[in-house]
Amino acid sequence: MMEVEAAVELWGRSVARNKLRYTVVVSDGDSKAFNKLSQIQPYGPDVPIDKEDCLNHVGKRCGTALRNLVADCSKKGVTLGGRGRGRLTADAVRKLQIYYSRAIRQNKTAEDMKRAILASLFHGYSTDNMPQHQYCPPGPDSRCFFKRSIGNHLYPTGRIKWVYTPLDFDLLHKHLEPLYQRLTNLDLLWRCERKVTQNPSESFHHSVWSRCSKKNLHSLKRVHFAVISAAAEYNRGPAAASTVKNVLGFQVGEDASRLGHARMQKRVERSILQQQQKQNRRRAKRAEAKEKARKEKEAEEGGPAYQAGMF
Ligand SMILES: [Zn+2]
Repeated sequence: MMEVEAAVELWGRSVARNKLRYTVVVSDGDSKAFNKLSQIQPYGPDVPIDKEDCLNHVGKRCGTALRNLVADCSKKGVTLGGRGRGRLTADAVRKLQIYYSRAIRQNKTAEDMKRAILASLFHGYSTDNMPQHQYCPPGPDSRCFFKRSIGNHLYPTGRIKWVYTPLDFDLLHKHLEPLYQRLTNLDLLWRCERKVTQNPSESFHHSVWSRCSKKNLHSLKRVHFAVISAAAEYNRGPAAASTVKNVLGFQVGEDASRLGHARMQKRVERSILQQQQKQNRRRAKRAEAKEKARKEKEAEEGGPAYQAGMF
């Protein structure tokens, strides 16, 4: 309710105050604010407002839907989870959610997203006797072993161990089909094409709440201070202190300014370190995958390949 009222106020004053028209709402799945804006048409009937979905929330929807499906079936006496190859275990649900989010992030158009999502499902259904790689990407560099073999003019067989998230077609497909139809609806995927998230606003909210917890009641002055100082620091970093001073009439001493700069410096250093760690992890993962592929190739060919000094 609060979001609806805030949206009406923000949209209502955007032209007068900022000379801007907000034509897109980034939604977290709750459409109340969007419905209200569509109804009141703040810029008139000629300027429609579109809704786009936050990628993080859409990704989570897949995991939630799968977990609900397992729970609903369990109530009816049908066990989809449990143990064993091909069951919809907690680990399989986690992986399917990752594949779903990745398919949306890594593809530009809704059609390509849909194909990649269906590939993650049908690749999992595949067995040696019933390969279902119709949605997997083709070519010699395909991440699907089956399509890669075809791309390299090899006969693809006996590699079912390479299906990392096996799914039992006979048990699961009748339940997963309607669910995936909903999750791959083009209307939903179109709203994800620009890859927007609510991360910036979530991050800003966190800055406000760290100054003034949302769990407790605070005076209006305290809330004003929290919002203004968070907005100033969010937009201008260490220069924020002088803004707060100007707007609220507070005296900001040298120490506060110095601390602001030190915090900013720390944040930059942490960001650089995280980036480096991320790169190292990626490099290690690539090396590991290369080594694994080499070993598997050796095993298939019946012995280690020639290396300098081995023979
Ligand atoms: Zn495949």
